[in-house]
Amino acid sequence: MKMQCVERLTPHIQTVNENTNLNMRKNSIEIACNICESIDYELISRRGQFGLPVNVVICKNCGLTYLNPRWSKERYQLFYKQEYDRYYRPNFRKIKPIISNKKNIIYDRLNFYDKLPVAPSNILDIGTGDGINLEYFMDVYSNANFYAIEPSSQGQRLLDKKGIVLLADDVDTDWEQNNNLKFDLIIMRHVLEHFLDPLAVLKKIQNCLSDDGILYLAVPNALTPFKPLQGFWFRVVHTYYFNKYSLRNLMALSRMNSIVMKEGDDYNPTEIFLIAKLAKNELKPEWNNDIYRLQRDFFVEQMKNENYPIIYLKSMINLYLPWLVKLKKQILG
Ligand SMILES: [Zn+2]
Repeated sequence: MKMQCVERLTPHIQTVNENTNLNMRKNSIEIACNICESIDYELISRRGQFGLPVNVVICKNCGLTYLNPRWSKERYQLFYKQEYDRYYRPNFRKIKPIISNKKNIIYDRLNFYDKLPVAPSNILDIGTGDGINLEYFMDVYSNANFYAIEPSSQGQRLLDKKGIVLLADDVDTDWEQNNNLKFDLIIMRHVLEHFLDPLAVLKKIQNCLSDDGILYLAVPNALTPFKPLQGFWFRVVHTYYFNKYSLRNLMALSRMNSIVMKEGDDYNPTEIFLIAKLAKNELKPEWNNDIYRLQRDFFVEQMKNENYPIIYLKSMINLYLPWLVKLKKQILG
């Protein structure tokens, strides 16, 4: 399938459409591959979690999997501000206590690979949520300053109460240019797959990492087997589906060097995480036809696990239950 008139995505060129319903066609934009800029792709699936519509495609040039067409920037902003927590963070309402006595996966992994920053000044968590990870690091590094980028209004209120400085509510703004901060640790835990332009964000990170700064990044591994009966694997909020090849290319294009990259461990077998630093030399991305075929064939095989009527039923219930509850309340007065 080849698209006509597809623009290279930048954070500011998305189409504006005030329509805020869930109709994909009325809110959608078409984009080129974030890694190789090709517009030659193949449709993988239209089935999304909770019955929300998706168009999952794979780039036939470099093998990156992404949503295309997908919602506009405005539609996603509204979703993260008002709807995301209802679908994905239903218990995201209370201030949790400091959890210094508990374990933290990010801290443990950095410690295991001997990559914990020594006496850091500034730590940034992108997609901070309620600040649960930063709280742990606040306890470890009591002299550091802690910063967040978080779109959820509910999350922002919680972060404010915890003394975490909100740097921006939108990762696509020029937050890295609006201050002179350099960060010794930047955390991106399961957020890169939500972004509209991951490469642009990684380039901003490259710009504001300190010379010895560490980037910790974790995403779901698109080469991890789907869990049968758990629901559709693709989702409207996951605009990208990364594997070790695409992550390596994104790191190269943003001139960062992965000093650790691991496909799962005892903490989480289904994710890839990496620890990266600024690269000293120019790095070149690499791709070939085998990577595209490997990822495509893997999805085709795994999607056979999704052909269960019960998953359809579960998706429909998730999608329409809030509406039915509201209707019932209206009818009963
Ligand atoms: Zn590509």
